[in-house]
Amino acid sequence: MSVSIQQLSTYLNGLLRVQEITDYCPNGLQVEGRREVTHIVTGVTASQALVDAAIAQGADTLLVHHGYFWKGESQTITGMKKKRISALLKNDINLLAYHLPLDVHPEYGNNRQLAKLLNVHQVKAVSSVKPVGVLMEGELPSPIKGEDLKQLLATQLSREILMECPQNKEITRIAWCTGGGQGFIEQAVEANVDAFITGEVSEQTIHVAREMDIAFFAAGHHATERYGVKALGEHLSEHFDIPVTFIDIPNPA
Ligand SMILES: [Zn+2]
Repeated sequence: MSVSIQQLSTYLNGLLRVQEITDYCPNGLQVEGRREVTHIVTGVTASQALVDAAIAQGADTLLVHHGYFWKGESQTITGMKKKRISALLKNDINLLAYHLPLDVHPEYGNNRQLAKLLNVHQVKAVSSVKPVGVLMEGELPSPIKGEDLKQLLATQLSREILMECPQNKEITRIAWCTGGGQGFIEQAVEANVDAFITGEVSEQTIHVAREMDIAFFAAGHHATERYGVKALGEHLSEHFDIPVTFIDIPNPA
């Protein structure tokens, strides 16, 4: 089976409500390749390693969370960006990228998928943070200690977790934002949760956690953002009846 890139990108733009979400990069088709889509490779970031893996797989379309053309970056196609883009163009591969629309989607979003991995209930968006769905809150099935939540995250995400947790803290209500969401720790405090989980950490995040009595977990930007694009790819495979291959290029950050 196959689908045209036009059909596929129109479908994804609608599903992920691209028009409604303001972002720091273009969402949708970023680099145009072949007209017919017969094999999609999915991954977190359109790095050279992922582009090369897509070429090796003979894919015609690459679907990622982190694409190119970020606000504030150099507008020229030189150096690293030239190598990546010329590899795509030479091999006639489409690059589809969805950033915030893929973080916040109520079913395939990174935040929703992380909640599933942790078995979080009563999931809802913290409404003070826009776009809605970037910061989420919910409840664990039962109260647990910081060490146990750290262990759960380590098991589910297959990596080491950084934790800053007040002694004897019992955790039931959590807030989370996949990726580089450490700046939302204060909104998490305001949402009155016991713990905040995100991908990355900054020096000041630790002070906020200590002084505002909230448990903090940095579980990896890459690790927390594998599951959205993976779930979306599985959906596309079913919906269009085409092969979709998720490729994880490990990243310790
Ligand atoms: Zn990200």
